Amino acid sequence: MEFESIIGLEIHVELATKSKMFCACSTRFGEEPNTQTCPVCLGLPGSLPVANEKAIEYVIKSGLAVGCDISLYSVFHRKNYFYPDMPKNYQISQYDLPLCVNGHIDLDMEGYETRIGITRIHLEEDTGKLIHVGGAGRIAGAEYSLVDFNRAGVPLMEIVSEPDIRTPEEAKAYAQKLRSILLALGVSDVSMEKGSMRVDANVSIRPKGSTEFGVKTELKNLNSFRSLQRALAYEIERQKKAIEAGEVIVQETRHWDENKGVTSTLRTKEYAHDYRYFPDPDLVPMEFKSDWIEKLRAELPELPDERKQRFMKDYGLPAHDARLLTEDKPMGDFFEETIALYKGDPKFVSNWLLGDISYYLNTENLEIDETAITPRHLADLLRLIDQGVISGKIAKEIFPEIFETGKLPQVIVEEKGMTQISDESEISSIVDLVLQENPGAVKEYREGKERALGFLVGQVMRLTKGRANPQLVNRLLREKL
Ligand code: ADP
Ligand code: ZN
Ligand code: MG
Repeated sequence: MEFESIIGLEIHVELATKSKMFCACSTRFGEEPNTQTCPVCLGLPGSLPVANEKAIEYVIKSGLAVGCDISLYSVFHRKNYFYPDMPKNYQISQYDLPLCVNGHIDLDMEGYETRIGITRIHLEEDTGKLIHVGGAGRIAGAEYSLVDFNRAGVPLMEIVSEPDIRTPEEAKAYAQKLRSILLALGVSDVSMEKGSMRVDANVSIRPKGSTEFGVKTELKNLNSFRSLQRALAYEIERQKKAIEAGEVIVQETRHWDENKGVTSTLRTKEYAHDYRYFPDPDLVPMEFKSDWIEKLRAELPELPDERKQRFMKDYGLPAHDARLLTEDKPMGDFFEETIALYKGDPKFVSNWLLGDISYYLNTENLEIDETAITPRHLADLLRLIDQGVISGKIAKEIFPEIFETGKLPQVIVEEKGMTQISDESEISSIVDLVLQENPGAVKEYREGKERALGFLVGQVMRLTKGRANPQLVNRLLREKL
């Protein structure tokens, strides 16, 4: 039987506000445990929450950016459950009146396009962080657990997708696109590594052609886009095998083990009625005037899709380049600043950014704005190539040093004596020498073996340590031969 997979993502994003959701405590990441707390976020008796206006604004802007309808009336609910990372024994969240509903994100899958619906975006508060000591660092087998409340009460936005995603690749593309939109908005640093973006994936399968949904499982502990894709691929296979073996899929939450590459049962699913949701009596309902919403809409920056279209139109870039450059805001900014300084072929700049520079960033696990390279460096480097001062090969050789030291390319070239030799007489004498020393290759070339020329070019390059101007070497060799 042929199966089709159905996927829906629930994505939590910590908002980049200065203070927490319902108190004035700082949200700064990485501080000493329990130094950013107060009676409100510790749930002490008599304390009262006050909503953070900036957080509400950030959620509404996020909703507008993905085409949501914004609710002019919205309330906070209490979601009741006990867990040691939550001092109040309830989490302030939203239930049936979320801030945003009915949005979508369009995906360009390079070959086809697809639209993924967004059911809702709501605002809630984050919990504290448990640190399990001993064992494998997970609760099972730990000797004891420590709790850090610095994160308790940090504003958290939850974005719930419709079950419109059909493959693990689409799930990854959706999460990446959402991330790039939120980065452009500046509402969060959206880092999966730091945990400011957390993705839970719901997945089920059904026979191809069927219109009913199968029973879903929910996958947790997906710490990168790669693990999101891998975990889904594994889980889809697991469900297929189970169904083919005549087993039934049970609705449950499963844990992804990154090292073993498998999912396993964490707990069976809880239901909304278990949480005894009710409106929080300590918080006033939120009512918005539509002019305020329109003011926020007018403040939206250029979003990745718009930027992609502009890059194609203004710089003549192929869709593929434009998409990759605009997925990451700092990368797109770097591109535009380089173009402004360099004034040469935009495709040349794009090739460098998406080729060697991206490769370096990936292997070093760095973002472009975390290295010493600036648009000035790249613009100068490309100009040196255009002017024939260095070859493309030498440019590739020196730029790790640019990354590490921030020295300008012309300085490195100078220091290392790497400038290209474009002096005709100098190259001419080396060419003569090579011809003299390689009579075999000369003979082959004259007998019509074009390949022999490549060998001779290589010999000139070897003698000049790659510094000879390749066009000149080719021309002189042909002339002399
Ligand atoms: P729950 O009641 O378990 O919280 P929801 O209906 O609220 O489930 O959906 C949670 C997430 O799961 C959403 O992103 C939704 O798109 C997705 N989802 C719902 N049903 C399915 C299904 N059968 N298969 C895959 N994903 C699903
Ligand atoms: Zn506080
Ligand atoms: Mg739900």
